[in-house]
Amino acid sequence: MKPFVPKLVYFEPEALSYPLGKELYEKFTHMGIEIRETTSHNQVRGIPGETELARYRNAKATLVVGVRRTLKFDSSKPSAEYALPLATGCMGHCHYCYLQTTLGSKPYIRVYVNLDDIFAQAQTYIDERAPEITRFEAACTSDIVGIDHLTHSLKKAIEFIGATDYGRLRFVTKYEHVDHLLDAKHNGKTRFRFSVNSRYVIRHFEPGTSSFDARLAAARKVAGAGYKLGFVVAPIYRHDGWQEGYYELFQELARQLEGVDLSDLTFELIQHRFTKPAKRVIEQRYPNTKLDLDESKRKYKWGRHGIGKYVYVDEEAQELEETIRSYIARFFPAAQVQYFT
Ligand code: SF4
Repeated sequence: MKPFVPKLVYFEPEALSYPLGKELYEKFTHMGIEIRETTSHNQVRGIPGETELARYRNAKATLVVGVRRTLKFDSSKPSAEYALPLATGCMGHCHYCYLQTTLGSKPYIRVYVNLDDIFAQAQTYIDERAPEITRFEAACTSDIVGIDHLTHSLKKAIEFIGATDYGRLRFVTKYEHVDHLLDAKHNGKTRFRFSVNSRYVIRHFEPGTSSFDARLAAARKVAGAGYKLGFVVAPIYRHDGWQEGYYELFQELARQLEGVDLSDLTFELIQHRFTKPAKRVIEQRYPNTKLDLDESKRKYKWGRHGIGKYVYVDEEAQELEETIRSYIARFFPAAQVQYFT
């Protein structure tokens, strides 16, 4: 698929006083993309669309260039200590995506140009924990790889972390646009993960993202560039024939990764979950979705901020975990499963 190009771009005026802000302004002007001004990246007004749904779809194609003012990083358990805030929002249309609720009425894509401030804060966190390792997750609130061909912020973050002693970086993507990252000086401190799933889940629930084959081709390139490689299998979803679907996934992964050094390969396993507010939003935005959001079939798990999640009931979750672990053991005996959640 073609790399993402926004239909409309907003700039905070202050963003233009940073080198990346200026560079992006020139780039989008040159590309002939409509540019507007916004006083704050948190309050973008006037995204076109007659209906809420049309505005939502247009927002997902809108890029907002701003300055990150909150420099307190969120935590990012279980995969890392901190979320690295390079961007917020994503152009993908995965039906199950939690950004639909966490971003509320701001589904547009924000990128931040004050990278030096962000990296200085990351350095402070690293120093506080040294000599313990501090891991940063760069894809908590966006699919950063999918927009990085425009900003190269992730590339700079990879090189920043590569130069630290105790920092590590990780991120996950469903996009294939990795070429500009292949020559980044990562020094083995970045784990590049791809999100993969059964054919059924990708076909029905992940519109607007790269195909499985394209993700795997990108994974081969990234491994060839010496990055640590990982796969996030999420959401693990009990569709009709899920056992065969996931078996085929691992079989195909093994086939496509033949010849790649897999001595340090990780898997992260995340079962499908949803909240009540998410269900409402998903039904409005993707009214024909096949995603099964029937609370009565699930187990309620209390969560932070009083919003609980619906996960699979214990026996079903256990069956998912055991089945997926057995496939990994069969096709990738040396790989490490970091968690199932
Ligand atoms: Fe959400 Fe990731 Fe899909 Fe983007 S690619 S919509 S961040 S799940």
